[in-house]
Amino acid sequence: MISIKNKEDCCGCSACVQACPKKCIEMIEDNEGFLYPQVGASLCIDCGVCEKVCPIKNQKIEQSFKQTAYVVQNKDLSVLRESTSGGAFSAIACWVLKQGGVVFGAGYDDNLNVLHQYVEDERSLFKFRNSKYVQSKIGTSFLQTKEFLQKGRMVLFSGTSCQIEGLLSYLRKPYENLWTVDVVCHACPSPLMFRKYKEWLNLKCADEIRNIAFRDKHYGYKYSTMSVFRKEKDYHEGIDTDPYLRAFFRHLSIRPSCFNCAFKKIYRPTDFTIWDCFDVENFCKEMDNDRGVTKVLCHSSRAQSLILNLRDYLSICEVSPEKIIEGEKELVKPVAPCDERTQFFKDLNEMPVEECFEKYFPLTMRHRIEKQVRIWTNRLGIYKFAKNVFKKINGNREVKR
Ligand SMILES: Cc1cc2nc3c(=O)[nH]c(=O)nc-3n(C[C@H](O)[C@H](O)[C@H](O)COP(=O)(O)OP(=O)(O)OC[C@H]3O[C@@H](n4cnc5c(N)ncnc54)[C@H](O)[C@@H]3O)c2cc1C
Ligand code: SF4
Ligand code: SF4
Ligand code: SF4
Repeated sequence: MISIKNKEDCCGCSACVQACPKKCIEMIEDNEGFLYPQVGASLCIDCGVCEKVCPIKNQKIEQSFKQTAYVVQNKDLSVLRESTSGGAFSAIACWVLKQGGVVFGAGYDDNLNVLHQYVEDERSLFKFRNSKYVQSKIGTSFLQTKEFLQKGRMVLFSGTSCQIEGLLSYLRKPYENLWTVDVVCHACPSPLMFRKYKEWLNLKCADEIRNIAFRDKHYGYKYSTMSVFRKEKDYHEGIDTDPYLRAFFRHLSIRPSCFNCAFKKIYRPTDFTIWDCFDVENFCKEMDNDRGVTKVLCHSSRAQSLILNLRDYLSICEVSPEKIIEGEKELVKPVAPCDERTQFFKDLNEMPVEECFEKYFPLTMRHRIEKQVRIWTNRLGIYKFAKNVFKKINGNREVKR
């Protein structure tokens, strides 16, 4: 039976839980807010299924194959505005919905907790747009996917690569009616950290939170902004000044498995891998408008045909696979561990949230100036040049994109 001795060896995909024939595995939250499987040993029949479906225990050797690559931008300006980068996901999802399919992705529940869910109509797709920088709870979505597939419905499943490899491992056989899209994933922050962040926001202002966009384009695409939408006054802070984003990019709040990610690779078992294109000037001048562009790597010929069918939705520019992955660390290399992480989680549990955030993310005049400098250098298109200057001011204390 499954037993987690080292937390780096479990990405929390829940494949084991959903595959157990005795339903005797539960996902239990640890003191950092991450879910891990726990077996009710009295019911276990020692069948070994949980171990067989675990994507970390059954890693496949990476093998090269022919790929195609594109940079794309959604033609619908409101979809593009809501999307993290170029709205590639929405275009693929719209196509699947038009075929009568079902789309799975990460969205909020009524209390702004992030979980995997499905939609069956285009109007509901907004739920999945925009990256939620918090680990999404998979729940029973693999089971639901299998049910739809067995009934012959087309399914698009989107998520991080560990979630999709978990799904494929859980399904244990290929389905022609399944499409998968994985987002390149820096790492996944803790749901506990997100709850504490919402607590902190509520202490700052009692006004009800209506929505949170982790990658809002309030200051343009290139300046990653956390936007909190309230009834009265919205909040827009970036990676220099927002405590949640600062914790994420300092690697304080992320899941242990992300430090040893088994799913970072070029040749993936998904149909599409999508990620940010911050260097569109190297690929397509017409898309260089600070509205967002997505890089798309197609791992199958059917994925290539599908993308080329999306010209009604997307501006598309074909590029070489070698060029699109050049220098993309997040695609292939796990993030570096952070020495302060254990103490941070201890403090997060024990200290009042305002004190804890003040200790780790003090907001000084320097941070506010950095924010303005980064916004303006991005707008003027001289950010890369200025980045070296930032590095000198910051040292390497906070890893920023
Ligand atoms: C946790 C995380 C870390 C990321 N790190 C990087 C990075 O380091 N570098 C990079 O270039 N890109 C990263 N991305 C991907 C990037 O943010 C965009 O998702 C990508 O550019 C696609 O944008 P889009 O406009 O085409 O799609 P969007 O419309 O933004 O679609 C969002 C897609 O992401 C999925 N999604 C959203 N939140 C989650 C979540 N918490 N868990 C699983 N799936 C989720 C949705 O289901 C949907 O498929 C990350 C995404 C996530 C979720
Ligand atoms: S060994 Fe079988 S019964 Fe026991 S927990 Fe694993 S899947 Fe469930
Ligand atoms: S990685 Fe997934 S399948 Fe493996 S133990 Fe963790 S939750 Fe279970
Ligand atoms: S970094 Fe790897 S283990 Fe962590 S969430 Fe992303 S894909 Fe999963």
